[in-house]
Amino acid sequence: MNTDQILKDLQNIVGKEFATNSPEDLYIYSQDPGASLPRPVDFVVMPKTTEEVQKIVKLANEEKIPLVPMGGGLTLSGLIIPVRGGIVLDMKRMDQIIEINELSRYALIEPGVSTGQLLAYLNEHHPDLQPAIPDAPPSATIAGNVLIHGSGYLSQKYGDHGAIVNGLEVVLASGEVVKLGSCAVSDYWFARGPIPDLVGLFLSSFGTMGIVTKLSVQIFPKPKFREIVFGLMKDEENIPNLLLEITTKEFIEDVILGKQDKPEWMKGYIFFMVYITGDSQEDIDAKLKILKKTYRKNGARYMKAPQKMIGFLLIHVYLRFRIPLEFYMIASEF
Ligand SMILES: Cc1cc2nc3c(=O)[nH]c(=O)nc-3n(C[C@H](O)[C@H](O)[C@H](O)COP(=O)(O)OP(=O)(O)OC[C@H]3O[C@@H](n4cnc5c(N)ncnc54)[C@H](O)[C@@H]3O)c2cc1C
Repeated sequence: MNTDQILKDLQNIVGKEFATNSPEDLYIYSQDPGASLPRPVDFVVMPKTTEEVQKIVKLANEEKIPLVPMGGGLTLSGLIIPVRGGIVLDMKRMDQIIEINELSRYALIEPGVSTGQLLAYLNEHHPDLQPAIPDAPPSATIAGNVLIHGSGYLSQKYGDHGAIVNGLEVVLASGEVVKLGSCAVSDYWFARGPIPDLVGLFLSSFGTMGIVTKLSVQIFPKPKFREIVFGLMKDEENIPNLLLEITTKEFIEDVILGKQDKPEWMKGYIFFMVYITGDSQEDIDAKLKILKKTYRKNGARYMKAPQKMIGFLLIHVYLRFRIPLEFYMIASEF
């Protein structure tokens, strides 16, 4: 491999400042925050457009250099560290929110759009809509998450995040661009049909099938009212039945379970938090009653949490940053 020439070619494609092979730049790309050991990287390139991605892919193909796309690089399992060296394609500069279609409820975005970015954008411009995002740090990308079939606070209601993809634009290894879903036959990105659904080929393929340069993901109505209903139980055998009954109710948004020995008063109990949603306070109150009954029926107890704590939790729901259950429990001690 003629390293100098390849670097020059890459810089010609994306601009001098967006392609590098200097060791201090490569260092951070040779690892992720998980337990994988570092592995060497030869180049890092940050494209801005689909055309640039096409040129990089063609070059990598001609030179037989491995190419690994990266979003936020936060999957914790070494997915974005090349196995046999090569180019890391850092997608962060492709960060445009192209369209929010309120009517068909989808967001058409570039692959560098982060979960925090889409959430903030919807909160500001479309406050009645919410994205399905993971509990990962907000710099994680929507693309990186849906492409690994990620999951998050809306998954129990709407399915894993692979299921929310309406369509993709992908650069194949040949450099050709394909469009998958309704966008292939119209200007709209509202569904995977009506053509044969090939989106699945690109999910959980970890960049090996192509580089995603645009994607459409479903977005969802944001309920006006939310409440968090705490509960606790002793008998672990009751958990499956309780969960089954809870999750068959339409108004349940999210369920979190936890068990720990510290602080002392938590010892021996399983704690859970159930997020319920509704259109009015009366609606929430009625649902709360139903939920309490379900708890009782399954050997669990409703636990009244201090209002201050619920308020704190709901702010975090708005920010969509979920703090571990034990933190709430410890915080509630004070
Ligand atoms: C504290 C913490 C909490 C987390 N909680 C959750 C959680 O609740 N749910 C969850 O699902 N995950 C969770 N994760 C894991 C992970 O952070 C998320 O799944 C995250 O959304 C992955 O996105 P990313 O941008 O970091 O993806 P990356 O790691 O950058 O990429 C993921 C995969 O997609 C490929 N890829 C990226 N971009 C493209 C592209 N444009 N074209 C083709 N392939 C591409 C990459 O090569 C890689 O194989 C958590 C991680 C942390 C650190």
